[in-house]
Parts: sequence; structure tokens; C-alpha cells
Amino acid sequence: MAEAPALEIVRTAGQLRLRLDGWRRDGHAIGLVPTMGGLHEGHLALVRRSAEATARTVATLFVNPKQFGPGEDFETYPRDEERDVRLFAGAGAHLVYAPGVEEIYPPGAVTQVSVPGLGDMLEGQCRPGFFTGVATVVAKLFAQAMPDRAFFGEKDFQQLQVIRRMAADLNFPIAIEGVPTVRQDDGLALSSRNAYLSKDERKIAPALYGTIRAVAERVAAGGGPAEEAARGERRLLEAGFAAVDYLTVRDALTLQPVPELFGDSGAPARVLAAARLGDTRLIDNVAV
Ligand code: AMP
Repeated sequence: MAEAPALEIVRTAGQLRLRLDGWRRDGHAIGLVPTMGGLHEGHLALVRRSAEATARTVATLFVNPKQFGPGEDFETYPRDEERDVRLFAGAGAHLVYAPGVEEIYPPGAVTQVSVPGLGDMLEGQCRPGFFTGVATVVAKLFAQAMPDRAFFGEKDFQQLQVIRRMAADLNFPIAIEGVPTVRQDDGLALSSRNAYLSKDERKIAPALYGTIRAVAERVAAGGGPAEEAARGERRLLEAGFAAVDYLTVRDALTLQPVPELFGDSGAPARVLAAARLGDTRLIDNVAV
């Protein structure tokens, strides 16, 4: 296999701006793909999509301390810059932005971006402050790079909607594009955290996707959203999940609960779930 070409890494916003200004002068549209590293095919699908849609792709590597709660895995989050840069290069990125913490949070920084409503429910309720951490870092990356387009995975569906809202509210002239979830053959959505699963847990994990897909199919066929969600929750516990944080059918745009008779409404809906398998928390979602 041919070696992927070396990829330039910049570590300051000033260097980033210089490189991007040059590309803009040459008339190139710029795509941004924010990640925390620990790369897998899901991240690379975003890079490939950006390379297809824009002339220049900037991938970012930043493990954002502000989106980890106390007791979460900030310290142990997988970090292997050399591997990640090689994978970015192979997927078609043109530049990697890997800032240090002070480059994103200057000394004394206190300003935050929060998205009330969308950012408080579901994941936001289970992980207080999480979406403020996400919206703040993405707003900062947008301000530093000012890309034409930015790419986010549907795997984190609520995050995608929070970012769309934030970008519109803060008048960023950036097109936000969602990219479909990349899965293993057995349906498990790729996630950096899958590495934490034991062998036995890994066998149980695909039940999450199987279950939410079954809920989506039954609701599409006329089943009541609340009843089907409750059935799905029981199925996950029977499959061996330790706890279900939520399993719910929501309006795909507002993430508000759908009415019981929503089958006739024609509005797009989404089944979203978070469940714990041993010490690992998995999330997934599908369209109805
Ligand atoms: P992370 O590094 O976990 O913050 O993820 C960076 C980006 O990759 C986010 O936009 C995620 O939604 C996206 N992503 C993570 N896993 C997947 C997947 N399995 N399929 C598609 N996109 C993904």
C-alpha cells in the first residue's frame, strides 16, 4: 500500500488563518471537520465527504476539556496524533489543525455558548454542561477557521441539531452538513468508546441499533411512540444493558416528543437512545 503523503499540521489560530487566507485568495471553498481524534471510519467518512464537497479540507484534532463531566474519560480518551494525521491524509484532508488548550481557551476565558432547549434535553440532561462545551468549542473553531461548510456525523444527532441552531443564531455564514452514521457489519455504530467494551459486552452492543430500528419500523407502521419506546427499553434491558438513560421518539428538527397520533402528521421523526453496557455508555439514533 502506498504511504499517504505527509500532511501539514498547524497549532495556532494565526497559522491556521494564514493558510486559509491563501486558499481563499485562490478561490478555494473550505470544509471543516472537527474531531477529538481516536479516529475510525466514521470520522473518515466526514473527511471524504468534505473532500468531495469542497476544494480544501481542514480536519481538527482537539480533545475539548469543557465537554467532559467530572468522572468522565477526559484523561483516558484515546490520543495518537501520528496515527490520526496519517488517517486524515489517506481520507483526503489538506491540513490538520491541532491547537493546544490555550489556543482555544485563552487565560481567563469565561465566555460560553449555550443552546437552551435543544441543548438541555436528552444528552444534555444526562450530561449537564455537555452541549455548552460542544457549542462553545465549535463556535470557536468556526470563528478561527471561517469555513464555507462544516461536517458533523448523524451518529451524534442531537449535537448536529444543536450546532445547526448555534450557527444560525450566531449568524455564522457556514453550511452545516450531516453525514450518515457509519456502522460495523452487525449494526453497531462506530465510536471511539467502543474500545472500552469487553468481549461479552461487544456481543450485546448491536442490540442497541437492532432495537431502535425495530421501534422506528413499528412506529412507522402506526405503533404508538410511547408504547413502542417502552417496549424497546425492556428489550435492551433483556439483552443485557445495565440501564437505559433514554429511548424516545422525537421530532427530527426540534427533538420535542412526538404526539401519540403522529403517524398522520408526516413530520420527520427520529428514534434516539442512550444506554449503558457495563461502564460504557452508548448512544445511537435512526430515522423513523
Ligand atoms: P468526536 O471525535 O467523537 O467528537 O466525533 C467527531 C465527529 O465524528 C462528530 O461529528 C461525530 O458525529 C462524527 N462521528 C463519530 N462517529 C461517527 C460514525 N459512526 N459515523 C459518522 N460520523 C461519526
